[in-house]
Amino acid sequence: MPLSNCVTLHCPVCLRDRGELICYASRQKHCVICQCETLEPLELVGDAEPVLEVEQVVGDPAASFWLKNALCEALNRDPVDAANEAEVLARILDQRCRKLLRAA
Ligand SMILES: [Zn+2]
Repeated sequence: MPLSNCVTLHCPVCLRDRGELICYASRQKHCVICQCETLEPLELVGDAEPVLEVEQVVGDPAASFWLKNALCEALNRDPVDAANEAEVLARILDQRCRKLLRAA
């Protein structure tokens, strides 16, 4: 499951105005949220404007021990494996959360 093959564009307007990273597939022509037509390649985001730094999370007193621990352990792993498996983990937790909220 390649991490970045399907998502290659982001909306710079949404990122600048609201701090939201809105991602699109490479064939998307405009942002469905702000309607702008200036979608930029996602690669530029990482270089110009890091969304979240490791140090930021580790040094954040509001971040949970679980998150910091998971992050530190992930940094010792192969970066591609860690990123892909984190995505799987996030998807499982998201689905579980939605299911529980629906049942409540
Ligand atoms: Zn937008």
